[in-house]
Amino acid sequence: MESWIGYVERHDAEVGRLLAAEGRRQRSTLSLIPSENYTSKAVQLALATSYTNKYAEGYPYLWAGDTREETKNGRYYRGQPNTNELERLAIRRALELFTPNPDAYHANVQPLSGSPANLAVLNAFLEPGDTFLGLSLDYGGHLTHGHPVNLTGSIYNAVQYRLNADYELDYEQIRELAHRHKPKLIICGATAYPRQIRFQLLGEIARETGALLVADIAHICGLCVTGYHEHPFPHADVVTTTTHKILRGPRAGLILCRRELGAAIDRAVFPGLQGGPHMNTIAAMAIALREAASPAYHAYAGQVVRNAKALAEGLREAGFVLMGGGTENHLLLLDVVNSMNGLAVRDGHYLAVQLEKAGIVVNKNAIPGDTKPWYPSGIRLGTPAVTTLGMQEPDMARIAAWIVRATRGASDEGELQRIRSEVAAFVEGFPAGELFVE
Ligand SMILES: *Cc1c(COP(=O)(O)O)cnc(C)c1O
Repeated sequence: MESWIGYVERHDAEVGRLLAAEGRRQRSTLSLIPSENYTSKAVQLALATSYTNKYAEGYPYLWAGDTREETKNGRYYRGQPNTNELERLAIRRALELFTPNPDAYHANVQPLSGSPANLAVLNAFLEPGDTFLGLSLDYGGHLTHGHPVNLTGSIYNAVQYRLNADYELDYEQIRELAHRHKPKLIICGATAYPRQIRFQLLGEIARETGALLVADIAHICGLCVTGYHEHPFPHADVVTTTTHKILRGPRAGLILCRRELGAAIDRAVFPGLQGGPHMNTIAAMAIALREAASPAYHAYAGQVVRNAKALAEGLREAGFVLMGGGTENHLLLLDVVNSMNGLAVRDGHYLAVQLEKAGIVVNKNAIPGDTKPWYPSGIRLGTPAVTTLGMQEPDMARIAAWIVRATRGASDEGELQRIRSEVAAFVEGFPAGELFVE
């Protein structure tokens, strides 16, 4: 049988060549980017189906929470029998996976990604100029938590909180800012925070000050639903997440909330921010949500955490400085400018570029005090993707050793090439037949 990519190559040689090349790149390099993963073949194939042809503005109900048979079609276009059933399936799976009681919560599966999900939530509850609290980007927060270059930082009054000297969320500062500024909403969650987030404590602060608590669990959602991280519900009023990071689904966003907030969330997503939902993505999301409810995914999440600890241990022993001293989740943040034993380099950008030459793909990351975002002092590593390939603790020790060698030999192109061939042979040794559409 002709391969899928072979079919595209015959149809369009230029794009087909790039599809094949990206598959080869992913199968021969180590992805240590903590926000990336490998989706199952079923997830990828669902994306490549005729649902991409269909417009489905609206929802598979007339209003949030309405389950009556006669109002199961709240779409603005006809032709929806399959989209309605599919979206209801995705919603049910999202509620069962993410909430303590599906009847008490609402899910919106239409956000096109994590950033629009966050913008929709802010838009649902804030007027322009209203105050909210979010974690500052240089302390691990996300752009959409109120950074000045993002809409969330320009249309609202975003007050930013930070981490304390132990590289931990400064809960005292958050409490103090919440009492002082009386924000309508507090958003928590991070893109580069190696510790656990204390949702219960943040929920108490939000209730003390009359704010809604929004937990953005894009990076850690898979740990929350398997018990490897405190769950944001019932402490948070709203939870946002992406489905393409640790969850291993398509690139998309998801919003969950207390049921009574559902109508406001739905209106804010459509028509407030978006038009037609991407139904092929929702099909793939439904598959990923079912996969994430399986015992195999539970075991996966535990291995992600053990692998992160093993990787952290190997790197710390060699002299790397780990922000926060280690990791309590799936990611680590290294200060590569102040590392020891010949591991210090001029900046995180340079090291990330040189590591890629050795087949080790990471991202540079700001650490507190950095002033140049393009040349930050840190790099960020995570274990979700390599764990999907089947790697375990001894493999993390090997990866740590390659990172150490490549860092010491960062200016030696020959050494980076030698590591690259070893890394490629190593990665190709992990059977990935169920992971790649070829
Ligand atoms: C990745 C991420 C997002 C945004 O996701 P996109 O899909 O890239 O828009 C939002 N919040 C946090 C905490 C994230 O890590």
